[in-house]
Amino acid sequence: LLSRLQDPSLLRTQALINGEWVEGAARFGVDDPATGEALAEVPNLGRLEAEAAIAAAQNAWPAWRAKTAKERAAVLQRWHQLLLKHTDDLALILTAEQGKPLAEARGEVGYGGSFVEWFAEEGKRIYGETIPSTDPGKRYIVLKQPIGVCAAITPWNFPLAMITRKVAPALAAGCTVVIKPAEATPLTALAAAELAQRAGMPAGVLNVLTADAAQSIEIGHVLCESDVVRHLSFTGSTEVGRILMRQCAGTLKKLSLELGGNAPFIVFDDADLEAAVSGAMASKYRNAGQTCVCANRLYVQAGIYDAFVEKFAAKVATLKLGPGLEPGSQVGPLIDAQALAKVESHVADAVALGAKVLTGGEPAAEVGPQFFQPTVLANATAQMLCSREETFGPVAPVFKFQTEDEVVALANSTEFGLASYFYSRDIARVFRVAEALEFGMVGINTGLVATAEVPFGGIKQSGFGREGGRQGIEEYVELKYLCLGEL
Ligand code: ADP
Repeated sequence: LLSRLQDPSLLRTQALINGEWVEGAARFGVDDPATGEALAEVPNLGRLEAEAAIAAAQNAWPAWRAKTAKERAAVLQRWHQLLLKHTDDLALILTAEQGKPLAEARGEVGYGGSFVEWFAEEGKRIYGETIPSTDPGKRYIVLKQPIGVCAAITPWNFPLAMITRKVAPALAAGCTVVIKPAEATPLTALAAAELAQRAGMPAGVLNVLTADAAQSIEIGHVLCESDVVRHLSFTGSTEVGRILMRQCAGTLKKLSLELGGNAPFIVFDDADLEAAVSGAMASKYRNAGQTCVCANRLYVQAGIYDAFVEKFAAKVATLKLGPGLEPGSQVGPLIDAQALAKVESHVADAVALGAKVLTGGEPAAEVGPQFFQPTVLANATAQMLCSREETFGPVAPVFKFQTEDEVVALANSTEFGLASYFYSRDIARVFRVAEALEFGMVGINTGLVATAEVPFGGIKQSGFGREGGRQGIEEYVELKYLCLGEL
Protein backbone atom coordinates (compact mmCIF):
# COMPACT_ATOMS: atom_id res chain seq x y z
CA LEU A 1 0.00 0.00 0.00
CA LEU A 2 2.75 2.44 0.97
CA SER A 3 4.43 2.07 -2.39
CA ARG A 4 1.22 3.03 -4.22
CA LEU A 5 0.68 6.28 -2.30
CA GLN A 6 1.77 9.57 -3.84
CA ASP A 7 2.14 10.95 -0.31
CA PRO A 8 3.21 8.04 1.94
CA SER A 9 3.00 10.24 5.03
CA LEU A 10 -0.80 9.97 4.79
CA LEU A 11 -0.53 6.40 6.02
CA ARG A 12 -0.50 7.44 9.66
CA THR A 13 -0.16 4.65 12.21
CA GLN A 14 -0.34 6.73 15.37
CA ALA A 15 -3.40 8.11 17.12
CA LEU A 16 -3.93 11.85 17.56
CA ILE A 17 -4.32 13.36 21.03
CA ASN A 18 -3.91 17.08 21.71
CA GLY A 19 -2.17 17.63 18.40
CA GLU A 20 0.46 14.96 19.16
CA TRP A 21 0.81 11.69 17.32
CA VAL A 22 0.73 8.91 19.94
CA GLU A 23 2.26 5.43 19.53
CA GLY A 24 0.43 3.69 22.38
CA ALA A 25 1.87 0.86 24.46
CA ALA A 26 -0.04 -1.86 22.59
CA ARG A 27 -0.90 -2.13 18.89
CA PHE A 28 -3.46 -3.99 16.79
CA GLY A 29 -3.50 -4.97 13.14
CA VAL A 30 -5.57 -3.70 10.22
CA ASP A 31 -6.22 -6.17 7.40
CA ASP A 32 -7.25 -5.95 3.77
CA PRO A 33 -10.68 -7.68 3.64
CA ALA A 34 -10.09 -8.68 0.00
CA THR A 35 -6.98 -10.71 0.72
CA GLY A 36 -6.61 -11.03 4.49
CA GLU A 37 -3.19 -9.39 4.09
CA ALA A 38 -1.95 -7.30 7.03
CA LEU A 39 -1.81 -3.60 6.10
CA ALA A 40 -0.54 -1.84 9.22
CA GLU A 41 -0.65 -1.72 13.00
CA VAL A 42 -2.16 1.15 14.96
CA PRO A 43 -2.31 1.98 18.69
CA ASN A 44 -4.67 -0.06 20.82
CA LEU A 45 -5.68 2.65 23.26
CA GLY A 46 -7.88 2.52 26.35
CA ARG A 47 -9.16 4.40 29.35
CA LEU A 48 -6.09 6.57 30.04
CA GLU A 49 -5.78 7.82 26.49
CA ALA A 50 -9.53 8.41 26.26
CA GLU A 51 -9.35 10.55 29.39
CA ALA A 52 -6.36 12.42 27.95
CA ALA A 53 -8.22 13.07 24.69
CA ILE A 54 -11.30 14.35 26.55
CA ALA A 55 -9.10 16.66 28.64
CA ALA A 56 -7.36 17.92 25.49
CA ALA A 57 -10.72 18.62 23.84
CA GLN A 58 -11.90 20.39 26.98
CA ASN A 59 -8.79 22.58 27.11
CA ALA A 60 -9.00 23.40 23.42
CA TRP A 61 -12.68 24.32 23.59
CA PRO A 62 -12.60 27.93 24.93
CA ALA A 63 -10.26 29.21 22.22
CA TRP A 64 -12.03 27.31 19.43
CA ARG A 65 -15.44 28.51 20.60
CA ALA A 66 -14.15 32.07 20.80
CA LYS A 67 -13.16 32.13 17.13
CA THR A 68 -15.68 33.58 14.72
CA ALA A 69 -17.62 31.14 12.57
CA LYS A 70 -15.76 32.57 9.60
CA GLU A 71 -12.39 31.78 11.18
CA ARG A 72 -13.46 28.21 11.91
CA ALA A 73 -14.85 27.94 8.38
CA ALA A 74 -11.45 28.91 6.97
CA VAL A 75 -9.82 25.91 8.70
CA LEU A 76 -12.61 23.61 7.51
CA GLN A 77 -12.38 24.93 3.95
CA ARG A 78 -8.63 24.20 3.91
CA TRP A 79 -9.35 20.72 5.25
CA HIS A 80 -11.94 20.21 2.49
CA GLN A 81 -9.45 21.32 -0.16
CA LEU A 82 -6.80 18.94 1.18
CA LEU A 83 -9.24 16.02 1.28
CA LEU A 84 -10.07 16.64 -2.38
CA LYS A 85 -6.45 17.20 -3.37
CA HIS A 86 -5.50 13.83 -1.87
CA THR A 87 -8.48 11.93 -3.28
CA ASP A 88 -6.29 9.31 -4.97
CA ASP A 89 -4.36 8.42 -1.83
CA LEU A 90 -7.38 8.57 0.49
CA ALA A 91 -9.32 6.30 -1.86
CA LEU A 92 -6.44 3.80 -1.96
CA ILE A 93 -6.23 3.68 1.84
CA LEU A 94 -10.01 3.44 2.10
CA THR A 95 -10.31 0.58 -0.37
CA ALA A 96 -7.34 -1.26 1.13
CA GLU A 97 -8.87 -1.43 4.59
CA GLN A 98 -12.58 -1.40 3.74
CA GLY A 99 -12.81 -3.32 0.46
CA LYS A 100 -15.16 -1.20 -1.68
CA PRO A 101 -14.24 -0.72 -5.36
CA LEU A 102 -11.80 2.12 -5.89
CA ALA A 103 -14.35 4.14 -7.89
CA GLU A 104 -16.74 3.97 -4.92
CA ALA A 105 -13.94 4.94 -2.55
CA ARG A 106 -13.19 8.00 -4.68
CA GLY A 107 -16.91 8.77 -4.58
CA GLU A 108 -16.80 8.54 -0.80
CA VAL A 109 -13.91 11.01 -0.59
CA GLY A 110 -16.00 13.50 -2.56
CA TYR A 111 -19.09 12.76 -0.48
CA GLY A 112 -17.18 12.80 2.82
CA GLY A 113 -15.46 16.03 1.85
CA SER A 114 -18.76 17.63 0.89
CA PHE A 115 -19.88 17.58 4.54
CA VAL A 116 -16.81 19.58 5.50
CA GLU A 117 -17.56 22.15 2.82
CA TRP A 118 -21.29 22.29 3.62
CA PHE A 119 -20.86 22.73 7.37
CA ALA A 120 -18.04 25.25 6.97
CA GLU A 121 -20.73 27.37 5.30
CA GLU A 122 -23.59 26.41 7.62
CA GLY A 123 -21.49 27.35 10.66
CA LYS A 124 -21.94 30.98 9.59
CA ARG A 125 -25.71 30.64 9.66
CA ILE A 126 -26.45 29.45 13.19
CA TYR A 127 -29.12 32.07 13.63
CA GLY A 128 -30.75 32.80 16.96
CA GLU A 129 -34.12 34.45 17.38
CA THR A 130 -35.78 37.53 18.85
CA ILE A 131 -39.30 36.90 20.04
CA PRO A 132 -41.88 39.71 20.01
CA SER A 133 -42.33 40.66 23.60
CA THR A 134 -45.68 40.66 25.41
CA ASP A 135 -44.26 42.93 28.11
CA PRO A 136 -43.20 46.43 27.04
CA GLY A 137 -40.41 46.41 29.64
CA LYS A 138 -38.86 43.15 28.48
CA ARG A 139 -37.16 41.68 25.43
CA TYR A 140 -36.83 37.97 24.62
CA ILE A 141 -33.77 36.66 22.76
CA VAL A 142 -32.69 33.12 21.89
CA LEU A 143 -29.00 32.32 21.40
CA LYS A 144 -27.53 29.15 19.96
CA GLN A 145 -24.22 28.16 21.50
CA PRO A 146 -21.87 25.21 20.92
CA ILE A 147 -22.70 22.28 23.16
CA GLY A 148 -19.08 21.55 24.17
CA VAL A 149 -16.87 18.48 23.89
CA CYS A 150 -18.40 15.95 21.51
CA ALA A 151 -17.65 12.26 21.00
CA ALA A 152 -18.11 10.38 17.73
CA ILE A 153 -18.12 6.59 17.42
CA THR A 154 -18.17 5.55 13.78
CA PRO A 155 -18.59 2.37 11.69
CA TRP A 156 -16.42 0.79 8.99
CA ASN A 157 -18.77 0.97 6.00
CA PHE A 158 -18.02 4.64 5.21
CA PRO A 159 -14.69 5.16 6.98
CA LEU A 160 -14.43 8.81 5.91
CA ALA A 161 -17.97 10.08 5.41
CA MET A 162 -19.32 8.82 8.74
CA ILE A 163 -16.59 10.82 10.43
CA THR A 164 -16.90 14.06 8.47
CA ARG A 165 -20.65 14.26 8.78
CA LYS A 166 -20.36 14.25 12.57
CA VAL A 167 -17.09 16.11 13.00
CA ALA A 168 -17.63 18.91 10.48
CA PRO A 169 -20.89 20.23 12.00
CA ALA A 170 -19.46 19.91 15.52
CA LEU A 171 -16.32 21.85 14.62
CA ALA A 172 -18.21 24.43 12.58
CA ALA A 173 -20.56 25.06 15.51
CA GLY A 174 -17.57 25.68 17.81
CA CYS A 175 -17.33 22.29 19.54
CA THR A 176 -14.24 20.12 19.93
CA VAL A 177 -14.28 16.41 19.18
CA VAL A 178 -12.96 13.00 20.21
CA ILE A 179 -13.39 10.35 17.48
CA LYS A 180 -13.26 6.59 17.97
CA PRO A 181 -13.25 5.12 14.45
CA ALA A 182 -14.20 1.50 13.75
CA GLU A 183 -11.46 -1.01 14.51
CA ALA A 184 -11.59 -2.33 10.93
CA THR A 185 -10.95 1.08 9.32
CA PRO A 186 -8.77 3.37 11.44
CA LEU A 187 -6.31 4.24 8.63
CA THR A 188 -8.74 6.44 6.69
CA ALA A 189 -9.62 8.27 9.91
CA LEU A 190 -5.95 8.89 10.68
CA ALA A 191 -5.23 10.08 7.14
CA ALA A 192 -8.14 12.51 7.39
CA ALA A 193 -6.82 13.69 10.77
CA GLU A 194 -3.36 14.22 9.27
CA LEU A 195 -4.93 16.46 6.65
CA ALA A 196 -6.90 18.32 9.33
CA GLN A 197 -3.60 19.01 11.09
CA ARG A 198 -2.11 20.32 7.85
CA ALA A 199 -5.19 22.53 7.44
CA GLY A 200 -4.30 24.25 10.70
CA MET A 201 -6.65 22.57 13.18
CA PRO A 202 -5.47 23.75 16.62
CA ALA A 203 -4.17 21.09 19.03
CA GLY A 204 -6.92 19.27 20.93
CA VAL A 205 -9.77 20.43 18.67
CA LEU A 206 -9.84 17.09 16.82
CA ASN A 207 -8.62 13.93 18.56
CA VAL A 208 -8.63 10.37 17.19
CA LEU A 209 -8.48 7.29 19.44
CA THR A 210 -7.82 3.95 17.75
CA ALA A 211 -8.71 0.72 19.53
CA ASP A 212 -9.56 -2.90 18.79
CA ALA A 213 -13.04 -4.33 19.48
CA ALA A 214 -12.44 -4.99 23.19
CA GLN A 215 -10.75 -1.66 23.89
CA SER A 216 -13.46 0.15 21.90
CA ILE A 217 -15.92 -1.03 24.53
CA GLU A 218 -13.63 0.36 27.25
CA ILE A 219 -13.29 3.70 25.45
CA GLY A 220 -17.06 3.72 24.91
CA HIS A 221 -17.54 3.58 28.68
CA VAL A 222 -15.18 6.50 29.24
CA LEU A 223 -16.81 8.67 26.55
CA CYS A 224 -20.36 7.89 27.72
CA GLU A 225 -19.68 8.30 31.42
CA SER A 226 -17.66 11.52 31.13
CA ASP A 227 -19.28 14.66 32.49
CA VAL A 228 -17.16 16.75 30.15
CA VAL A 229 -18.44 15.05 27.00
CA ARG A 230 -21.80 16.73 26.30
CA HIS A 231 -22.82 14.98 23.13
CA LEU A 232 -22.32 11.52 21.64
CA SER A 233 -22.94 10.79 18.00
CA PHE A 234 -22.95 7.14 17.01
CA THR A 235 -23.50 5.33 13.74
CA GLY A 236 -23.66 1.55 13.91
CA SER A 237 -25.89 -1.30 14.96
CA THR A 238 -29.13 -0.80 16.88
CA GLU A 239 -27.84 -3.21 19.51
CA VAL A 240 -24.74 -1.10 20.24
CA GLY A 241 -26.85 2.08 20.04
CA ARG A 242 -29.02 0.76 22.88
CA ILE A 243 -25.92 -0.02 24.97
CA LEU A 244 -24.48 3.45 24.44
CA MET A 245 -27.79 5.14 25.24
CA ARG A 246 -28.00 3.18 28.48
CA GLN A 247 -24.40 4.13 29.32
CA CYS A 248 -25.17 7.80 28.65
CA ALA A 249 -28.15 7.85 31.00
CA GLY A 250 -25.93 8.63 33.99
CA THR A 251 -24.75 11.92 32.50
CA LEU A 252 -27.97 12.62 30.52
CA LYS A 253 -25.87 13.20 27.45
CA LYS A 254 -27.39 14.55 24.27
CA LEU A 255 -27.35 11.79 21.65
CA SER A 256 -27.52 11.43 17.89
CA LEU A 257 -27.98 7.79 16.90
CA GLU A 258 -27.95 6.51 13.34
CA LEU A 259 -28.66 2.81 13.68
CA GLY A 260 -29.72 -0.18 11.61
CA GLY A 261 -32.29 -0.16 8.84
CA ASN A 262 -34.41 -2.66 6.97
CA ALA A 263 -35.16 -0.67 3.85
CA PRO A 264 -38.12 -1.67 1.71
CA PHE A 265 -37.81 -1.04 -2.04
CA ILE A 266 -41.27 -1.10 -3.62
CA VAL A 267 -41.99 -1.35 -7.34
CA PHE A 268 -45.61 -0.68 -8.34
CA ASP A 269 -47.16 -1.94 -11.59
CA ASP A 270 -47.11 1.61 -12.99
CA ALA A 271 -43.35 2.06 -12.44
CA ASP A 272 -40.81 2.66 -15.19
CA LEU A 273 -39.35 -0.85 -15.22
CA GLU A 274 -35.87 0.10 -16.50
CA ALA A 275 -35.54 2.88 -13.93
CA ALA A 276 -36.71 0.58 -11.12
CA VAL A 277 -34.16 -2.09 -12.08
CA SER A 278 -31.33 0.48 -12.20
CA GLY A 279 -32.44 2.00 -8.90
CA ALA A 280 -32.55 -1.41 -7.23
CA MET A 281 -29.04 -2.21 -8.51
CA ALA A 282 -27.65 1.06 -7.16
CA SER A 283 -29.42 0.78 -3.84
CA LYS A 284 -28.69 -2.89 -3.22
CA TYR A 285 -25.17 -3.65 -4.45
CA ARG A 286 -23.33 -0.45 -3.55
CA ASN A 287 -20.58 -1.23 -1.03
CA ALA A 288 -21.48 -4.95 -1.48
CA GLY A 289 -24.79 -4.27 0.23
CA GLN A 290 -23.09 -2.98 3.37
CA THR A 291 -24.89 0.30 3.96
CA CYS A 292 -27.68 1.01 6.42
CA VAL A 293 -29.78 2.45 3.58
CA CYS A 294 -29.31 -0.45 1.13
CA ALA A 295 -32.58 -1.97 -0.10
CA ASN A 296 -33.07 -5.00 2.14
CA ARG A 297 -36.52 -6.13 0.96
CA LEU A 298 -37.69 -5.71 -2.63
CA TYR A 299 -41.50 -5.71 -2.96
CA VAL A 300 -42.71 -5.95 -6.55
CA GLN A 301 -46.38 -5.79 -7.56
CA ALA A 302 -47.86 -8.92 -9.16
CA GLY A 303 -48.43 -7.37 -12.62
CA ILE A 304 -44.77 -6.45 -13.11
CA TYR A 305 -43.13 -9.10 -10.89
CA ASP A 306 -41.98 -11.58 -13.56
CA ALA A 307 -40.67 -8.89 -15.89
CA PHE A 308 -38.83 -7.19 -13.02
CA VAL A 309 -37.10 -10.25 -11.60
CA GLU A 310 -36.03 -11.41 -15.05
CA LYS A 311 -34.44 -8.08 -16.00
CA PHE A 312 -33.01 -7.51 -12.51
CA ALA A 313 -31.42 -10.97 -12.17
CA ALA A 314 -29.93 -10.71 -15.67
CA LYS A 315 -28.30 -7.39 -14.78
CA VAL A 316 -27.08 -8.58 -11.39
CA ALA A 317 -25.47 -11.61 -13.05
CA THR A 318 -23.21 -9.22 -15.00
CA LEU A 319 -21.81 -7.49 -11.88
CA LYS A 320 -18.08 -8.06 -11.58
CA LEU A 321 -17.03 -9.36 -8.18
CA GLY A 322 -13.42 -8.68 -7.24
CA PRO A 323 -10.90 -6.91 -4.99
CA GLY A 324 -11.64 -3.21 -4.87
CA LEU A 325 -8.18 -2.30 -6.12
CA GLU A 326 -8.58 -4.43 -9.25
CA PRO A 327 -9.72 -2.36 -12.25
CA GLY A 328 -13.33 -3.05 -13.20
CA SER A 329 -14.44 -4.51 -9.87
CA GLN A 330 -18.02 -3.54 -9.08
CA VAL A 331 -18.66 -5.55 -5.92
CA GLY A 332 -15.94 -6.03 -3.32
CA PRO A 333 -15.53 -8.33 -0.31
CA LEU A 334 -17.56 -8.36 2.88
CA ILE A 335 -15.83 -6.73 5.82
CA ASP A 336 -15.10 -9.91 7.81
CA ALA A 337 -15.85 -13.62 8.23
CA GLN A 338 -18.80 -12.91 10.52
CA ALA A 339 -20.42 -10.72 7.87
CA LEU A 340 -20.02 -13.51 5.32
CA ALA A 341 -21.52 -16.04 7.74
CA LYS A 342 -24.60 -13.82 8.23
CA VAL A 343 -25.15 -13.50 4.49
CA GLU A 344 -24.78 -17.27 4.04
CA SER A 345 -27.26 -17.95 6.85
CA HIS A 346 -29.84 -15.55 5.36
CA VAL A 347 -29.59 -17.23 1.96
CA ALA A 348 -29.73 -20.76 3.42
CA ASP A 349 -32.76 -19.85 5.54
CA ALA A 350 -34.57 -18.28 2.57
CA VAL A 351 -33.87 -21.26 0.31
CA ALA A 352 -35.05 -23.71 3.01
CA LEU A 353 -38.31 -21.72 3.21
CA GLY A 354 -38.90 -21.84 -0.55
CA ALA A 355 -36.94 -18.96 -2.11
CA LYS A 356 -35.61 -19.54 -5.60
CA VAL A 357 -32.02 -18.50 -6.40
CA LEU A 358 -32.10 -16.63 -9.74
CA THR A 359 -28.42 -15.70 -9.71
CA GLY A 360 -25.54 -16.06 -7.24
CA GLY A 361 -26.39 -17.73 -3.95
CA GLU A 362 -22.91 -18.89 -2.94
CA PRO A 363 -19.68 -17.57 -1.44
CA ALA A 364 -17.09 -16.90 -4.14
CA ALA A 365 -14.07 -18.54 -2.52
CA GLU A 366 -12.17 -18.46 -5.81
CA VAL A 367 -12.12 -14.64 -5.59
CA GLY A 368 -11.25 -14.51 -1.90
CA PRO A 369 -12.38 -15.84 1.48
CA GLN A 370 -14.81 -12.98 2.19
CA PHE A 371 -16.56 -12.64 -1.16
CA PHE A 372 -20.20 -13.53 -1.78
CA GLN A 373 -21.77 -13.67 -5.23
CA PRO A 374 -24.27 -10.90 -6.03
CA THR A 375 -27.53 -12.74 -5.43
CA VAL A 376 -31.20 -12.44 -6.36
CA LEU A 377 -33.81 -14.55 -4.57
CA ALA A 378 -37.35 -14.83 -5.97
CA ASN A 379 -40.46 -15.95 -4.04
CA ALA A 380 -39.31 -14.35 -0.79
CA THR A 381 -41.80 -14.42 2.11
CA ALA A 382 -42.30 -12.65 5.44
CA GLN A 383 -41.25 -15.82 7.33
CA MET A 384 -37.67 -15.50 6.10
CA LEU A 385 -34.88 -14.00 8.22
CA CYS A 386 -33.98 -11.65 5.36
CA SER A 387 -37.36 -9.93 5.70
CA ARG A 388 -36.85 -9.16 9.40
CA GLU A 389 -33.10 -8.55 9.72
CA GLU A 390 -30.68 -6.38 7.80
CA THR A 391 -28.63 -8.78 5.61
CA PHE A 392 -25.82 -6.23 5.02
CA GLY A 393 -24.61 -8.11 1.99
CA PRO A 394 -25.16 -8.45 -1.78
CA VAL A 395 -28.43 -10.38 -1.53
CA ALA A 396 -31.77 -9.13 -2.88
CA PRO A 397 -34.88 -11.06 -1.78
CA VAL A 398 -37.84 -10.18 -4.04
CA PHE A 399 -41.35 -10.40 -2.55
CA LYS A 400 -44.60 -10.35 -4.60
CA PHE A 401 -47.51 -8.15 -3.47
CA GLN A 402 -51.00 -7.36 -4.78
CA THR A 403 -52.27 -4.04 -3.37
CA GLU A 404 -50.91 -0.70 -2.21
CA ASP A 405 -52.40 -1.06 1.28
CA GLU A 406 -50.86 -4.51 1.63
CA VAL A 407 -47.35 -3.36 0.67
CA VAL A 408 -47.42 -0.26 2.86
CA ALA A 409 -48.34 -2.47 5.83
CA LEU A 410 -45.58 -4.95 4.94
CA ALA A 411 -43.01 -2.19 4.48
CA ASN A 412 -43.89 -0.68 7.85
CA SER A 413 -43.91 -4.01 9.70
CA THR A 414 -40.40 -3.57 11.09
CA GLU A 415 -38.98 -1.93 14.19
CA PHE A 416 -36.61 0.00 11.90
CA GLY A 417 -37.39 3.27 10.14
CA LEU A 418 -34.36 4.58 8.25
CA ALA A 419 -34.59 4.57 4.42
CA SER A 420 -37.36 3.37 2.10
CA TYR A 421 -37.80 3.52 -1.66
CA PHE A 422 -40.63 3.17 -4.13
CA TYR A 423 -41.21 3.46 -7.86
CA SER A 424 -44.48 4.74 -9.28
CA ARG A 425 -45.57 7.24 -11.94
CA ASP A 426 -48.97 7.96 -10.43
CA ILE A 427 -48.72 11.32 -8.68
CA ALA A 428 -51.59 10.64 -6.26
CA ARG A 429 -50.02 7.33 -5.26
CA VAL A 430 -46.62 9.01 -4.88
CA PHE A 431 -48.00 11.33 -2.21
CA ARG A 432 -50.18 8.66 -0.52
CA VAL A 433 -47.35 6.16 -0.19
CA ALA A 434 -44.65 8.73 0.69
CA GLU A 435 -46.82 9.98 3.55
CA ALA A 436 -47.77 6.48 4.76
CA LEU A 437 -44.25 5.02 4.93
CA GLU A 438 -42.87 5.14 8.48
CA PHE A 439 -39.27 5.95 7.60
CA GLY A 440 -37.02 8.97 8.06
CA MET A 441 -36.17 8.98 4.34
CA VAL A 442 -38.15 8.05 1.24
CA GLY A 443 -36.54 7.71 -2.18
CA ILE A 444 -39.22 8.12 -4.89
CA ASN A 445 -38.13 6.86 -8.30
CA THR A 446 -34.52 6.83 -7.10
CA GLY A 447 -32.34 4.36 -5.23
CA LEU A 448 -29.89 6.94 -3.88
CA VAL A 449 -30.93 9.65 -1.42
CA ALA A 450 -27.85 10.68 0.57
CA THR A 451 -26.14 14.03 -0.04
CA ALA A 452 -24.65 16.66 2.28
CA GLU A 453 -27.51 19.17 1.88
CA VAL A 454 -30.34 17.01 3.28
CA PRO A 455 -31.31 15.72 6.75
CA PHE A 456 -30.21 12.09 6.84
CA GLY A 457 -31.58 9.97 9.68
CA GLY A 458 -34.16 7.56 10.97
CA ILE A 459 -37.20 7.11 13.15
CA LYS A 460 -38.38 4.21 15.35
CA GLN A 461 -35.46 1.95 16.35
CA SER A 462 -33.24 3.30 13.58
CA GLY A 463 -32.42 6.10 16.00
CA PHE A 464 -32.82 9.87 16.16
CA GLY A 465 -31.04 13.03 15.22
CA ARG A 466 -30.18 14.16 11.69
CA GLU A 467 -26.88 14.41 9.86
CA GLY A 468 -26.31 16.78 6.97
CA GLY A 469 -28.57 19.59 5.85
CA ARG A 470 -29.39 22.74 7.72
CA GLN A 471 -30.62 20.43 10.50
CA GLY A 472 -27.31 18.59 11.00
CA ILE A 473 -25.65 21.43 12.87
CA GLU A 474 -28.57 21.81 15.31
CA GLU A 475 -27.40 18.62 17.06
CA TYR A 476 -24.28 20.49 18.19
CA VAL A 477 -25.81 23.66 19.62
CA GLU A 478 -27.76 24.42 22.78
CA LEU A 479 -30.53 26.98 22.97
CA LYS A 480 -30.18 29.74 25.52
CA TYR A 481 -33.09 32.09 26.23
CA LEU A 482 -32.26 35.58 27.45
CA CYS A 483 -34.91 37.67 29.14
CA LEU A 484 -33.96 41.37 29.37
CA GLY A 485 -35.96 43.35 31.89
CA GLU A 486 -36.13 46.95 33.18
CA LEU A 487 -36.29 48.39 29.67
P1 ADP B 1 -21.27 -2.61 12.75
O1 ADP B 1 -22.49 -3.47 12.86
O2 ADP B 1 -21.32 -1.53 11.74
O3 ADP B 1 -19.96 -3.33 12.86
P2 ADP B 1 -21.11 -1.81 15.47
O4 ADP B 1 -22.30 -1.19 16.06
O5 ADP B 1 -20.66 -3.13 15.97
O6 ADP B 1 -21.40 -1.73 13.96
O7 ADP B 1 -19.84 -0.86 15.55
C1 ADP B 1 -19.84 0.48 15.20
C2 ADP B 1 -18.84 1.21 16.05
O8 ADP B 1 -19.18 1.02 17.40
C3 ADP B 1 -17.40 0.74 15.93
O9 ADP B 1 -16.56 1.87 16.02
C4 ADP B 1 -17.22 -0.15 17.13
O10 ADP B 1 -15.89 -0.22 17.58
C5 ADP B 1 -18.06 0.55 18.14
N1 ADP B 1 -18.59 -0.28 19.23
C6 ADP B 1 -19.07 -1.54 19.16
N2 ADP B 1 -19.49 -1.96 20.37
C7 ADP B 1 -19.27 -0.93 21.23
C8 ADP B 1 -19.50 -0.73 22.64
N3 ADP B 1 -20.08 -1.65 23.40
N4 ADP B 1 -19.13 0.46 23.17
C9 ADP B 1 -18.58 1.43 22.41
N5 ADP B 1 -18.35 1.30 21.10
C10 ADP B 1 -18.68 0.14 20.51
